[in-house]
Amino acid sequence: MSSGGREFRCSYCGAPLDVTPDSVLVVCQYCGRPNFVVSDVDTGGILAVPALNSDEIARRAVAAARRELKLKSATFGDPDLYYLPYYFASVEMAASYRARVRVTYSSGRTTVTRTVDVSGSLNYSATVPVLARRAVAGIATEKLAQHYLSTKPQTKPLDQIELGYRTSKAFLAAEFGRDRARGIAMRDAVDGLLARVDKDAGERALKALRLHSARTAVLDKTVDYQVGELDLSPLTYLPAWLVPYTVDEAQYHMAFAGWDGELLAALEPITVSGRLRSIIGSVLASGILAGIGGIALPQSPLVGAVFLFFGAGISAAIGKNVVASIKVKK
Ligand SMILES: [Zn+2]
Repeated sequence: MSSGGREFRCSYCGAPLDVTPDSVLVVCQYCGRPNFVVSDVDTGGILAVPALNSDEIARRAVAAARRELKLKSATFGDPDLYYLPYYFASVEMAASYRARVRVTYSSGRTTVTRTVDVSGSLNYSATVPVLARRAVAGIATEKLAQHYLSTKPQTKPLDQIELGYRTSKAFLAAEFGRDRARGIAMRDAVDGLLARVDKDAGERALKALRLHSARTAVLDKTVDYQVGELDLSPLTYLPAWLVPYTVDEAQYHMAFAGWDGELLAALEPITVSGRLRSIIGSVLASGILAGIGGIALPQSPLVGAVFLFFGAGISAAIGKNVVASIKVKK
């Protein structure tokens, strides 16, 4: 089943539907009812979290501007809702390792460096979010997934989600199915496991030297690990609201978790002149990313727009100074 070349018809009135490769939900032009277009991606069923309405988010944005961003005045645009596709993979691992750790600490006026061999074993379990649309990945999309895992809002089958009239273009199609999601989740989980091993090895090295705190670096390690069953959720749509706001004629965005209005990230106006260079860097970077969004996905202005915003997260990673122009809660 593929959207290319195949004609889709409204399941209520039979009228032809205008389906693009990015369509997940299409509102029939004739009867006005929403049709879900399931792609050929193997999603394992589709769940979604219901979103707050735009009035609620508009109020939240005004409060966040005042309380969290400390803005004296700002003009707000209409909030835009996006549903982003995620898989969540739960995985348990057991690892045993040997590591050589360099420990650096100061003793009186001298800096002492010692090398310690340690070994240990540990269990590691994690729930790894996998955004099924890699190009929009950024600070806000990571925070959205983490906020979902910590607040555990109720999910519903996609066709039971109440849809406002503006919702029809909010759903971003998933780019890949469960097999690739499993692969990505496994890579991320192994990265997490190796980071945990480094931490554990550092702690053991400190203990061996009877130190409370010191700088540790793992120089070399051998890790054997076993992976338990990897449990993958169905494709799960998480809502995010983007609110544009204007300060001194420049436009910025805030991103909110769609279900409870938690502020995830905001592009924050910065007026300190010493940071001018980082602002220029940030603008250039997001300009370039916006260009890529427009070129790579010419039929999908919606995705270009999201890419532009979440590109703010990506540009934050490009230059260290640029991070200063992005305010992230927590
Ligand atoms: Zn219809």
